[in-house]
Amino acid sequence: KQVIYAFNQGSAKMRDLLGGKGANLAEMTRLGFPVPKGFTLTTEACLDYLAQEDSEELSDPVIVSIDQALADLESATEKAFNDPENLLLVSVRSGARESMPGMMDTILNVGLNDRNVESLAQITQDERFAYDCYRRLLQMYGNVVYGLDSQLFEEHLAQEKTKAQVRFDHELKVDQLKALVAAYKKVYQDQLGFDFPQEVKTQIYEAVKAVFKSWNNHRARVYREMNHIPHDLGTAVNIQEMVFGNSGQESGTGVLFTRNPATGESKLFGEYLVNAQGEDVVAGIRTPAVIEDLKAEMPEIYQEIHDLAKQLEGYYHDMQDIEFTVEKGKLYFLQTRNGKRTAKAAVKIAVDMVEEGLIDEKEALLRIEPSMIDQLLHPSFDSQALAQAEAFSSLGLAASPGAGSGQIVFSAQKAKEWQAAGKKVILMRNETSPEDIEGMSAAEAIVTAHGGMTSHAAVVARGMGKCCVSGCSDLTIDEAAKVVYYPGGHLQEGDTISVDGSQGKLYLGEIPTALSNTDENYQKMMDWARKYSRLKVRMNAETPEDIQTGFSFGADGIGLVRTEHMFFKTERLREIRRFILSVDEDQRQAALEKIRDYQVEDFTKIFQLSQEAPAVIRLLDPPLHEFMPKSDREVAAVAADQGISEAELRSRMVQLAEVNPMLGHRGCRLAMTYPELYDRQVEAIIYGAIAARAEGLDPQVEIMIPLVSVEPELERLRKRLSQVIDRLLAQENVTIAYTIGTMIEIPRACFIADQLAQEADFFSFGTNDLTQMTYGFSRDDAGKFINQYLEDGTLAQDPFQTIDPEGVGALVEVAVEKARQAKAGLKIGVCGELGGDPASIHFFDQVGLDYVSCSPYRVPLAQLAAAQSAI
Ligand code: PEP
Ligand code: MG
Repeated sequence: KQVIYAFNQGSAKMRDLLGGKGANLAEMTRLGFPVPKGFTLTTEACLDYLAQEDSEELSDPVIVSIDQALADLESATEKAFNDPENLLLVSVRSGARESMPGMMDTILNVGLNDRNVESLAQITQDERFAYDCYRRLLQMYGNVVYGLDSQLFEEHLAQEKTKAQVRFDHELKVDQLKALVAAYKKVYQDQLGFDFPQEVKTQIYEAVKAVFKSWNNHRARVYREMNHIPHDLGTAVNIQEMVFGNSGQESGTGVLFTRNPATGESKLFGEYLVNAQGEDVVAGIRTPAVIEDLKAEMPEIYQEIHDLAKQLEGYYHDMQDIEFTVEKGKLYFLQTRNGKRTAKAAVKIAVDMVEEGLIDEKEALLRIEPSMIDQLLHPSFDSQALAQAEAFSSLGLAASPGAGSGQIVFSAQKAKEWQAAGKKVILMRNETSPEDIEGMSAAEAIVTAHGGMTSHAAVVARGMGKCCVSGCSDLTIDEAAKVVYYPGGHLQEGDTISVDGSQGKLYLGEIPTALSNTDENYQKMMDWARKYSRLKVRMNAETPEDIQTGFSFGADGIGLVRTEHMFFKTERLREIRRFILSVDEDQRQAALEKIRDYQVEDFTKIFQLSQEAPAVIRLLDPPLHEFMPKSDREVAAVAADQGISEAELRSRMVQLAEVNPMLGHRGCRLAMTYPELYDRQVEAIIYGAIAARAEGLDPQVEIMIPLVSVEPELERLRKRLSQVIDRLLAQENVTIAYTIGTMIEIPRACFIADQLAQEADFFSFGTNDLTQMTYGFSRDDAGKFINQYLEDGTLAQDPFQTIDPEGVGALVEVAVEKARQAKAGLKIGVCGELGGDPASIHFFDQVGLDYVSCSPYRVPLAQLAAAQSAI
């Protein structure tokens, strides 16, 4: 088995084996780009290593392959390890199939030791440079290979800078760097009891092992879980000839995006540092210069970068994120990959690329993660409130858009704890590192004092869709003392601020948010989505605001009005309680008539807003005890209100109590026992429709009966309700088209779908109940064990969040097949939560449903997922 591929042996197609970085380096090499030479150890080699049970050592065949590849690299570069005249040094870097920025490990300058550092000084005629490289190696190597805390080294660096009275690392002089090297070496002795390995091959073997192992470190696991990347891919290791961005003023290093990753603007976007190594830019320790400045500083290099970057983009048909280094006036590309971007940028870039002819509309749709749409619809600060607010920092960079308010904390750990306790937090740090990932995810927004647009905080926040302001250079953050000083004041842990990630500004106190405006690129993308999708997307909504929101997102109608949601208003609750507590027929009828009259208004409004679009109205579903008071105080008040004694009310409540209300007297069973309940509800619906009709509208009434398990339930109720409706229409002398359908939410209903289809005008799967009853997991109590199930792998996914194809999904398939055999063309939709989940939408599209229905804010996401499924 081949465990190593030289860059000139691979290609972009070999991502699985070579990882993203390795495959792209191979591809750039193939295309003749200026790429330093090197080779890749495969992901298979990593997996084999991690599977070894008895040994932490590299296997003999792997060692033989590495030795051979190193020898080849020596001849290809015409340099050699330990050669005092043509000294070869390498970087050792991880590179998994999916890019995991900053999550795994990188070591630069491997090959330096006490002797080679002198050779490097001789060769470059720059002793300062050589010792700078060596001290970087000692720190990175100690940290990555031996797990030494970076802080142990940083402390010495900070001391040395204070002693030398300089601000930046590169201002340190040779002697100071030599002192630093000595101090770093002592860290090894003190902490580990042995020295930094002087033997070059040992350095390389150990580094390879460390990168392999880093696949399983905590932060890499967390990152994979957050991004749904499988744990069994492994990482490749890239070993590449070093080029030096820190070899003087003609050198430098930078990160470059071919388009702006925050806004999508089609213009080179990036940052660089003169006389620096790659880690300096990404780590956010020095604040870099913007790439345009390079035009003045190194005009030829800028032009070359510009041309090569465009070429790469044309080649990959996507925005590229490139790392480059200039060594003494010669440009090298060290890496390229598809760049991470905000949702806004993703949409703009995709739309622009269609206009530029690089991709077509379908490809553009496939480029957008449905979950990104959520990000676009994130609220921004209410503009009036914002105008009144007091900004306390205005020098930050708009690293990742959005708006967030919360209490400030200075550690990722605190952010996690406070969030778990129900607080909204803003994570404030000098800079973030990969260990902070969970805290970043817990925060509403992230603020850093140092670092640029490509710092760790900025890159990771954009990936998470999280609001972030980086490089607030007017702040001084003392993480240990938990205070931040700003011009004119200071704030402590727990103080509330607001962060505007779109403008890069920070404000005191909390600012209310408003819905963000979506732009014309977004509109274009959503028009394409509707053009290419087969599945319709409706909304689950009952309030006028929600219905308007859903229609403004282009919903094809309403898929579920939960009528019980309309009962929680004082007067209505009183009547529904009167109905429940009634002792005779007259009382019951009187209460139901009042409820009907209240509901007419609601339905009129719903039909007015829906215009010609269909609206499914579900008749009452929950068990009646849900309308009863909970606390003692409420019981007393309700008894007084209903004119009965507390004792009597309590005794009625005991009668209503159910051991398992989810499986109890609810849904259509209520109407089987109290048929007048649904009679009056459908009358209210029809009166509402008549009112809309009077305004010249053509309401599309779809009445839905919940929780059917046997055919006679549907048959009897349907017959009775159509009689009620027809009588009413005749009496009012109008015609209104209406249909009566059923929810499918009980496994038994799936198996008798053919019988039910005979009695129904449409079906709608209630996947919430169907999942609950298929698994026997209570919707309300499953939280107690489901997280553990997900963590220990008992369940791969939460079946309430995404379709379980083997169980719930199989039932859906059975039902659809039986129903359509009995009644071809029966309209079938979904209105459970799964109707807003992209993977489930794909499934529902495949089995041929007509529509999905989800909460209004998820409508655009569902439209996109439906289009992607159809493409
Ligand atoms: C369902 O069960 O999926 C459904 C939509 O109904 P509810 O959530 O109201 O029970
Ligand atoms: Mg249900």
